[in-house]
Amino acid sequence: SVAICLFTADLRVHDNPVVRAAVGAADQVVPLFVIDDGVRDAGFVVPNRAAFLADCLADLDGALRGRGGRLVVRRGDVVEEVARVAEETGAGEVHLARDVSAFAQRREARLGHMLDRSRRRLCVHDSVTFVVPPGALTPASRGHFGVFTPYYRKWSEVPVREPLGAPDTVPVPAVRSERLPSGADLADGDPSPALPRGGEEEGRRRAAAWLDGPVTRYADRHDDLAGDATSRLSPYLHFGCLSAVELVRRATAVGGPGAEAFVRQLAWRDFNRQLLADRPETAHEDYRPRNDRWRTDEALVAAWRRGRTGYPLVDAAMRQMAEQGWMHNRGRLITASFLTKTLYVDWRVGARHFLDLLVDGDVANNQLNWQWVAGTGASTRPDQVMDPLVQARRFDGRGDYVRRWVPELAGIEGGAVHRPWLLPPEVRRRLDYPDPVIGLAEGRERFHRARAGR
Ligand code: FAD
Repeated sequence: SVAICLFTADLRVHDNPVVRAAVGAADQVVPLFVIDDGVRDAGFVVPNRAAFLADCLADLDGALRGRGGRLVVRRGDVVEEVARVAEETGAGEVHLARDVSAFAQRREARLGHMLDRSRRRLCVHDSVTFVVPPGALTPASRGHFGVFTPYYRKWSEVPVREPLGAPDTVPVPAVRSERLPSGADLADGDPSPALPRGGEEEGRRRAAAWLDGPVTRYADRHDDLAGDATSRLSPYLHFGCLSAVELVRRATAVGGPGAEAFVRQLAWRDFNRQLLADRPETAHEDYRPRNDRWRTDEALVAAWRRGRTGYPLVDAAMRQMAEQGWMHNRGRLITASFLTKTLYVDWRVGARHFLDLLVDGDVANNQLNWQWVAGTGASTRPDQVMDPLVQARRFDGRGDYVRRWVPELAGIEGGAVHRPWLLPPEVRRRLDYPDPVIGLAEGRERFHRARAGR
């Protein structure tokens, strides 16, 4: 007998219920990845994620070869390709991880119909990309939790299953495969210069190093922008090179306030996913409509994108993302608040730009965090405006983060780097750095007026 293991956002062999179930169900398994036209047409395949994905596929192929198999790669419409592979190999069942985006839900439904017609079985596995799947926890009143704290209280009481080992062998039948794609095969354009390397092996190496020490200091240090004291595991979680279940179990075993705070962040993934599963339209529409009449100003948006707003902390964070395809969470909060509140530009404009660059760019986490900051989402303080200068004092007091990412300002010592407009005119003139594109008080007042409907 033959089973298809359809990889999606679970590009790993360790703790992968999809792989284990397929291997357990049949004599032979087709470990299949489809380069899906639908994902490309949705504009989701950008050079940074394409480069990382190519690494992931090569790594997964290596892991499968080490177990006597290999990865089978096809290109086209995912449902049609699965149907073809099932015909060619006589596979009787298809195993797949459950996922939440409108795209993933449609894919699952279409696969179900197609397989039904040919009397094949679709087996959808819940605890692959989530720790606690959407729908498992519901408030008394409604279909999903709209506030994180009560969700998290329940989430942390759910027993987390034992992680599964990787299978020893994966016997694969003879079946046609395309060659492994490079990043350039998947997306046009150049990736950012300093991307992390993708793949399960690299992800596991980083997770082990993280859990072996730095995690214990996470609670105190995670917001220190220059300290770079977060795990940077988000790209590996996004592509499923790492299992969130396994990370929670291993962090819990480490224990202490740092590990606890880290596990709490992982709960945010599930929180956003249960919200998107219930309200898939919130990928594009306000979760809590605020009737914003967003401003359009291409020049201001361009300055924000390029990291030339004249606010050094905002610009540093935007440039970090352009360089590394990753931005510190504190930077994401500050830059998103600046765009949506100080400039009063539609959160969708910012969310799109983040999705164009972030290696961890993820519909649930990105769109719902943007909404959270813009005050159209699940935040309980929707009208809070972050002041980049206050943020600078608290999270980059010495200015090291700004000097690292804004070379024009690298020669200015200490916290003065956050207010280049106060430098003596002769120093100021020598810097190729813009004046602020907007006054902070002006932006804040306009935002509050707009939200008050005046
Ligand atoms: P750590 O601090 O080490 O946290 C561990 C893990 O917990 C992360 O890898 C991530 O999987 C999860 N996590 C942490 N914070 C959040 C959060 N607020 N929401 C959901 N999960 C979280 N995260 C993404 O994975 N993809 C995105 O596209 C994304 N877009 C964002 C956009 C905005 C405007 C904001 C404010 C946040 C966004 N985040 C996104 C959440 C968060 O910023 C990143 O997950 C985090 O910075 C990744 O770095 P890390 O792995 O070092 O995180």
